[in-house]
Amino acid sequence: MKTRKRVLVTGGAGFLGSHLCERLIGQGCDVLCVDNFFTGQRENVAHLIGNPYFELMRHDVTFPLYVEVDEIYNLACPASPIHYQFDPVQTTKTSVHGAINLLGLAKRTKARILQASTSEVYGDPTIHPQTEDYRGNVNPIGPRACYDEGKRCAETLFFDYHRQFALDIKVIRIFNTYGPRMHPDDGRVVSNFILQALRGQPISLYGDGLQTRSFCYVDDLIDGMLAFMATPPSEPGPLNLGNPHEITIRALAEKIIAMTGSASDLVFHPLPADDPRQRRPDITKARALLDWAPTIDVEDGLGRTIEYFRARMG
Ligand code: NAD
Ligand code: UDP
Ligand code: UDP
Repeated sequence: MKTRKRVLVTGGAGFLGSHLCERLIGQGCDVLCVDNFFTGQRENVAHLIGNPYFELMRHDVTFPLYVEVDEIYNLACPASPIHYQFDPVQTTKTSVHGAINLLGLAKRTKARILQASTSEVYGDPTIHPQTEDYRGNVNPIGPRACYDEGKRCAETLFFDYHRQFALDIKVIRIFNTYGPRMHPDDGRVVSNFILQALRGQPISLYGDGLQTRSFCYVDDLIDGMLAFMATPPSEPGPLNLGNPHEITIRALAEKIIAMTGSASDLVFHPLPADDPRQRRPDITKARALLDWAPTIDVEDGLGRTIEYFRARMG
């Protein structure tokens, strides 16, 4: 007899997915974690193995998946530029074919389904901060397009399945999120700078370092994701989730140097193509709908992340 909600998390062995699996089990759900381990790591969910309400399945979401579930969180997709540009065709397939398969699964099982979309759908934004009704400024043929356009097409599919088949969908647009279990070698700025600072290596600033991002600590993001999933079907999104506290990349580097007590210097490298100049979420909608806002400030969140990487380095 079924007593627990059965929840599928694709990309569940990744950074955000592993935190989500942990939280769902804590809420009494029966979790099926699906991952092809492209960027995810078994160690991220090692502490959940053996729990009777956790199951780990190796599977690539570009292939059909037949399981029985009540809810789906679709997080499967490499998220950092060096990983999603490693095999760009596979990145687009993961977003597009992955969305089709999981929407087909949701349609058959009548499961509610959440898509982890991204602030990258706004591209290099021409309005600031970004609200959900901004349509974005994406280069469709550039090196980031496999990720940005793949995620945009996935949103299209979600809203068409919603309109055409009355699927119960939730689309969130996640802004830069960081914390323990970020992949150490995925080239994202927070993990790069912390590891460089801890190793006493030069801090790699791309461009002049005056581009901005707004960094959200993982626990805050997961709170928002779970709260949105619990809203009525009349709220499909899209919904921005992120921390509106905006800083320059150079200021981030200086903060990490100070917090780690590192002797590292700043070294400047060329700015990658299509790198957005500024990014900050407008979270008015999430505040009103979920009564949600991030609670962990950047010093606190960076402190926890530095401790995680320090411990990993032994
Ligand atoms: P991550 O790379 O740690 O996690 C992605 C997971 O998906 C990995 O475990 C990977 O192995 C898995 N995966 C990739 N392709 C797959 C496939 N074809 N089949 C099955 N599994 C596959 O990245 P993350 O930061 O945890 O990101 C999770 C999701 O959130 C992604 O969809 C990403 O686009 C989105 N997102 C993240 C951020 C962020 O700042 N972390 C920002 C915006 C959006
Ligand atoms: N699908 C799946 N699991 C299911 C149901 C469907 O993976 O439980 C996949 C299947 O490969 C299908 C896709 O989802 O091609 C889209 O399903 P849908 O029912 O929308 O389309 P159709 O089956 O008519 O092509
Ligand atoms: N960045 C940097 N040094 C690094 C890694 C990244 O200066 O070692 C910059 C990058 O050019 C971008 C910002 O930091 O402007 C955030 O990069 P990340 O890859 O973490 O996220 P995204 O560009 O996808 O927002």
